[in-house]
Amino acid sequence: MAPGGGVCKEVVDSHNKYVKYDVVTAKAEKSNTPAKTGIGLGDKHGMPSTNGVHELLECAVCTSLMYPPIYQCPNGHTLCSDCKIRVHNCCPTCRLELGNIRCLALEKVAESLELPCRYRSLGCDDIFPYYSKLKHEQHCRFRPYSCPYAGSECSISSDIPTLVTHLKDDHNVDMHDGCTFNHRYVKANPHEVENATWMLTVFNCYGRQFCLHFEAFQLGMAPVYISFLRFMGEDSEAKKFSYSLEVGGYGRKLTWQGVPRSIRDSHRKVRDSLDGLIIPRNLALFFSGGDREELKLRVTGRIWKEQ
Ligand SMILES: [Zn+2]
Ligand SMILES: [Zn+2]
Ligand SMILES: [Zn+2]
Ligand SMILES: [Zn+2]
Repeated sequence: MAPGGGVCKEVVDSHNKYVKYDVVTAKAEKSNTPAKTGIGLGDKHGMPSTNGVHELLECAVCTSLMYPPIYQCPNGHTLCSDCKIRVHNCCPTCRLELGNIRCLALEKVAESLELPCRYRSLGCDDIFPYYSKLKHEQHCRFRPYSCPYAGSECSISSDIPTLVTHLKDDHNVDMHDGCTFNHRYVKANPHEVENATWMLTVFNCYGRQFCLHFEAFQLGMAPVYISFLRFMGEDSEAKKFSYSLEVGGYGRKLTWQGVPRSIRDSHRKVRDSLDGLIIPRNLALFFSGGDREELKLRVTGRIWKEQ
């Protein structure tokens, strides 16, 4: 089928990438089988699968929707620009060399489409021109939240009520009702900062949920503890609240007043921006009293709504 020179060399290469392409190629050739995964259109996001234009815009290799530049091989097989690099310029369907042939017709067709947000089933009713849909979805306020639990590789993402249940059932997180708290953190061997301790408590307050984090980490060379609050919701709502934290003992006291951060900001990001009550370990051990062999901190705090 290939007219001589343009055929890609069959790469004898144990790279399992090639295994993947063969599988994908097989799938792509069964033309009417809708993709079951990925950002498929015509799937549960509510698009009618009868509209072939949408299927044409799915990259045959990665099944993502394609954005300009959309490339095609001399036989007309299309693929996205990311995949073009990944397949080393060799069409995964017919093995012809890809070159730099754009598929302008498809790019223009895409431009004329309007599609609903992929989070429509979660409550977003907006409809977007094809090329701005992706950008919207990255910031859509209906997109699922990641699990706010720190210190584990938890891949759960969902809406807030589901996440609250998940924290309680799967991470055994303590739940408290009320906007003031008085919390004790006790740890037997406070000198092992490397095996960071983190604690998460969830507060129900004003009908919303707040995550109180407490953990040990290394700030430069100095071992410290940090405690901060995150809001289970959007940043715009988080800003309507304030909180204070206080820790002390033996006549000394540290206080912090802050604004809760949205759980859209990762736990790590908030920690690394030091947006919370920071307690140097020496001071923490002083507050703990005794022989410095045990961490016994009492952290009190309050959440309030700004008028
Ligand atoms: Zn692709
Ligand atoms: Zn091809
Ligand atoms: Zn949306
Ligand atoms: Zn989780």
